[in-house]
Amino acid sequence: MATNQRQPLGIELVRKGVVKQEDIRDALEYQKNHPKEKLGDILNELNLADPRALLDAMGEILGEKTIYLLDGDVKIDVTRYISLDIAKEAQAIPFEINDGTVKVCFSDISNKQQVESVRLIMLNKGLVMERYITFKKNIQKVLESLTQVSTETIDTDATGTSIVDNIIRSAMAKRASDIHVEPSESSIRIRYRIDGQLFTVAKIDKDKQSQIIGRLKAISNMHQEKQEPQDGRIIMYPDYNIRVSSQKNIYGEKFVLRLLKKGNNIKGLFELGFPRDPKLLKDAFDKRNSITVIAAPTGEGKTTTLYSVIDYLNKPEINITTIEDPVEIRIPGLNQIEIDTKTTFAGSLRTVLRQDPDIILVGEIRDEETAQIAMQAGQTGHYVLSTIHTLNAIEVVARLRKMNVSNYDISSTLATSISQRLVRKLCPHCKREREFTEEERNIIQKIGNKYGVDFNIENIKTYDAVGCDKCNNSGYFDRIAIYETLLITDPIKELIIKNASTLEIREEAYKEGYKPLLIEGIRKVLEGITTLDELNSKLLFY
Ligand SMILES: [Zn+2]
Repeated sequence: MATNQRQPLGIELVRKGVVKQEDIRDALEYQKNHPKEKLGDILNELNLADPRALLDAMGEILGEKTIYLLDGDVKIDVTRYISLDIAKEAQAIPFEINDGTVKVCFSDISNKQQVESVRLIMLNKGLVMERYITFKKNIQKVLESLTQVSTETIDTDATGTSIVDNIIRSAMAKRASDIHVEPSESSIRIRYRIDGQLFTVAKIDKDKQSQIIGRLKAISNMHQEKQEPQDGRIIMYPDYNIRVSSQKNIYGEKFVLRLLKKGNNIKGLFELGFPRDPKLLKDAFDKRNSITVIAAPTGEGKTTTLYSVIDYLNKPEINITTIEDPVEIRIPGLNQIEIDTKTTFAGSLRTVLRQDPDIILVGEIRDEETAQIAMQAGQTGHYVLSTIHTLNAIEVVARLRKMNVSNYDISSTLATSISQRLVRKLCPHCKREREFTEEERNIIQKIGNKYGVDFNIENIKTYDAVGCDKCNNSGYFDRIAIYETLLITDPIKELIIKNASTLEIREEAYKEGYKPLLIEGIRKVLEGITTLDELNSKLLFY
């Protein structure tokens, strides 16, 4: 048989139609700044392909089994089979066992030594390893959920009713945004999401499962008998709206409770972390006849920023309409429309335009139709605010092109593109002051040189995230956003019209003083608000 004449992964992926040639070009460009990242992970990170389709195609090309590994796929107690250190080192998660075979998922099988060492560890436990691949991000999410265990304890001997009440009240006290109630093989695991991270807070005996699920269904107004996925709401806690969803797994029904605190807790943009520069604020948002987009991955606080922008622009004489999925905060004086299963952003937007609002907030531009109508709205006397899923402000142009918005429409309508990330703030109760290391100084200096910013780090201290009972031993408390702002100036409009690449647009933006997220992030490190480590976990710069 002829030897396998395999082409590089990128070429094969294009041939399979999963990505386009220009996506590979963008990914390789990104790789120059992130040399340790693998092509598949970058395509996934940049959101250039449907993640599951991309993974399947990679599996076929590489001849590997694949799984889009999520928490719910992990059917075993991982740490009984592999130490967390080794799992992290090898980026490997054993996730299911059947008849002496253990399925292990890796994010990097090119490191043969690591793969082999995991295989031997499993063999020592009498298990034959069956290998799967997934994205690095998926492995890291699972690892994260395994590592964070809070010191909090919940009285698990109580009745179902009081356990559930306990779980919910304790989550509120700890500022959790979500509660996960997950039946597993031998217990029910309770986890909180706090400042974006999941913490395991309790494991409750399996024999309490039916009581807890029964109680959750009762207070969420769900059908007790129905096992299909359900959505409900809990309204018995006056300060909170709690949305509940259920989904069956092999050990029972899993519940996720999303906690939304009521009341006007919209923060000002500066308070959120926007650079304290009133002129920039005005240049970025005080517009008419155009579109401003907040561009970031999911879970980075885009919606919170949009609400703050609306709050900043809200005046009695201005007519503001929002189309959201769902409406998270009610704001007095606004006409807020919620998307449901029968409506779409595009459909609602069409209806709203007939009401002639001055400002329209469109929750998200996620398809061609919405993009086109949003553009039209921006060209006909309205100011449109929206979000879009890209990694940074400059990639918005490429994303809109991908949605078949013409260069003319982009250049004439897009006014501002803002990107953001949420980073955790050092816990004020336990942070420990220290000097920057030589290596850290070098990293900061190098970034400063690259972007033409003079970071003066003489006499500046940094802090270690230590951990105490106030911060679930994580060393961090609350989050702050870092922002980058791209103003679509005349020279940039010209470049867009000429179909210039992301790279060319970026070069011009630098000339005009655009500063990437990283610069704003380093500033927040130098101000002692966060750490270089935390920033790197978001932006991967070393
Ligand atoms: Zn602390």
